[in-house]
Amino acid sequence: MIKSYYDILGVEESANKTQIKNQYKKLVKIYHPDINSSLEAEFIFKEINKAAQILLNDKKRKDYDLLRKNNKKIYRPSCNKYSFDDLFKKTKKEENKPIKGDDIFVSVEIDYKEALLGTYRVVNIANSTICPKCQGKKFANNSICSYCNGVGEKIDNKKITVKIPANLKNKAKLRIKNEGQKGAFGGKNGDLYVVVNIQPKDEFTIKDGIVYVEVKISPYTAVLGGNVSVLTLWGEATIKIPPLTKTNQSFKLVNVGILNEKTNKKGDQIVTLIVETPSKVTDEEFRLYEKLKEINQKKKNAKIIN
Ligand SMILES: [Zn+2]
Repeated sequence: MIKSYYDILGVEESANKTQIKNQYKKLVKIYHPDINSSLEAEFIFKEINKAAQILLNDKKRKDYDLLRKNNKKIYRPSCNKYSFDDLFKKTKKEENKPIKGDDIFVSVEIDYKEALLGTYRVVNIANSTICPKCQGKKFANNSICSYCNGVGEKIDNKKITVKIPANLKNKAKLRIKNEGQKGAFGGKNGDLYVVVNIQPKDEFTIKDGIVYVEVKISPYTAVLGGNVSVLTLWGEATIKIPPLTKTNQSFKLVNVGILNEKTNKKGDQIVTLIVETPSKVTDEEFRLYEKLKEINQKKKNAKIIN
């Protein structure tokens, strides 16, 4: 049985444009590739599009009707008539069309400091390439392809060094062109996307280009003063604090903050000292604190007497 464009759309030969359009819309809702992913639907979808293109164009429809009258063979082949042989021929024909490689998505973890300064990460990606011997057909010389063992593709593991620029936001997506899956038959390669996850870190807070850090010190350091080690973006630094430093007192360190690439100078870091109560004390320390308390009590009583 051979079907005409009218048969394909399921409309009368006398149908007007609105009727054809409505029927076409109805069929699109059934066979659109987004709705129906079967090979059969794909084939029918192409057929109904061809039919609609002709029948919804006045001139093309007129020519088509005329041709049909003169030559019965111009009828379209039936949708029902297509066989897997046809489909095979179809895919075979399309096999050599350029195919773009898929994009690859990977994620990397970097810490807060790396995010500020920029860093590098090596990512491993598995890249599948269409088998160069059998061209993905899985067979060569009438037997299973020996190169890919009939898989039709070759998997290569590849290491790519990715430069992560400074000052990225968490979850930033870097695109590395051309490093995705390989394209086939002259098709472009896909791209590699690297999602950068920045691990939160409490030590550093950045505001207006200045680095802020809190450092805990013991009560005796606060009272006696002395050297305190402070973490900076560039490593550990030591600051000397005066006796009787109060909690929340801040100190400014210069030339240890964020590097300004234009001036090649480092910015400031503000260190805030927090006096921390010890969570454990030895008996000896406990006695010394008692002693301190006693001395203070005496000082107070002396004041009252005065
Ligand atoms: Zn092969």
